[in-house]
Amino acid sequence: MPYNNHFIPYGRQWIDEEDIQAVVNVLRSDWLTQGPEIEKFENEIAAYCGARHAVVFNSGTSALHGAYAALGLGEGHEFITTPITFAATANAGVYLGAKPVFVDVEEETGNIDTSKIEAKITKKTKLIIPVHYAGHPVELFKINELAEKYDLFVVEDACHALGARYRRQEAKGKGQKADEDDWIRIGSCKHSDMTAFSFHPVKHITTGEGGAVTTNNRDFYERLLMFRSHGITKKHLLNEPDGDWYYEMQMQGYNYRMTDIQAALGKSQLIKLDSFVQKRRKIAGMYNKFFYGNPCFDVPGERGSSFSAYHLYPLRIKVKYKELKKAIVAGLKEKSIGTQVHYIPVYRHPFYREMGYEKGLCPVAEDFYAGELSIPMYPAMSDEDASAVISGVEQVFGKVCKL
Ligand SMILES: *Cc1c(COP(=O)(O)O)cnc(C)c1O
Repeated sequence: MPYNNHFIPYGRQWIDEEDIQAVVNVLRSDWLTQGPEIEKFENEIAAYCGARHAVVFNSGTSALHGAYAALGLGEGHEFITTPITFAATANAGVYLGAKPVFVDVEEETGNIDTSKIEAKITKKTKLIIPVHYAGHPVELFKINELAEKYDLFVVEDACHALGARYRRQEAKGKGQKADEDDWIRIGSCKHSDMTAFSFHPVKHITTGEGGAVTTNNRDFYERLLMFRSHGITKKHLLNEPDGDWYYEMQMQGYNYRMTDIQAALGKSQLIKLDSFVQKRRKIAGMYNKFFYGNPCFDVPGERGSSFSAYHLYPLRIKVKYKELKKAIVAGLKEKSIGTQVHYIPVYRHPFYREMGYEKGLCPVAEDFYAGELSIPMYPAMSDEDASAVISGVEQVFGKVCKL
């Protein structure tokens, strides 16, 4: 077993000997960065997702920053997103001088409530950024319809959702079930302009730190490449080249490059992605079986139109027990079970409060935050670990909620 420390964290990586060998091979090679592993990894991500292009970055955050910049987000623009996400989703737009507009979430999935988006669209709105919370795809068909109606861009923050899929609920005629062929992969950008991923160790595959953007748009692809490397290019020159050495800086860019060491690790991890997702889904199945109908909390549901990648397993503690969350977290920790809360609504952070966002802006999101508790979910978890979590959760909730 790759992991047998007693404490069970809420998430962690799974690295095997092949991953280690892939990294060692790069260390012995000529290129530690800007070498051949980058493009190989990019090609494999694009192929996996079914997108034309992929560009890797040194984090999920820089990937988001690159995607927003590539479509021209900037000062005077607004972008619509969810408050139930990691702060980076909104921060990357703030880097560019744009203003986040937060739309409330659905109670059941924690995803942006698509029925509330239209009311928040203004003349300044340029972009919608849905987040597939916990790996459960948002209703991309609806978001795409709105984007077409108002001429907006869509960037999926899929940092939770590598390996997830979605489809139209009623794919075939009335009464008929949608079949396997109707599934669309997250990252294929069939209903968005770009999709961003993170390769942080708690995510589906890891490169230590890292991220990627997929797209089918050639212009976005070229801009993502430039943005990642100082805004510099050797292609499509605007000036007459002075000689062979010549390159040009055409836009403001950053050093957001991934190393070949990381790309080799990512490539080796990607081979195992489907088995990682299967394992996450197996654990979710075990949890569902034991936890469904628990009087203290609700389990995460999975809609017929969604194939979740289960980045998280978010419990929703029922209203009358929400106050007991601190005691529940402490009780679980005592049993060596790690938990985390996803997320503090982004606009409740002091930085955003100072920008003028008020408490009560998204009441469902605030309630969601109050009740949410993520219990351990990662592919390297053994069946014994999962059983320990199940009995620990049942005992602690039973005791704290005095059942
Ligand atoms: C992890 C994450 C990010 C940021 O990714 P990093 O690789 O940590 O920079 C952004 N958005 C969401 C929803 C995430 O979970």
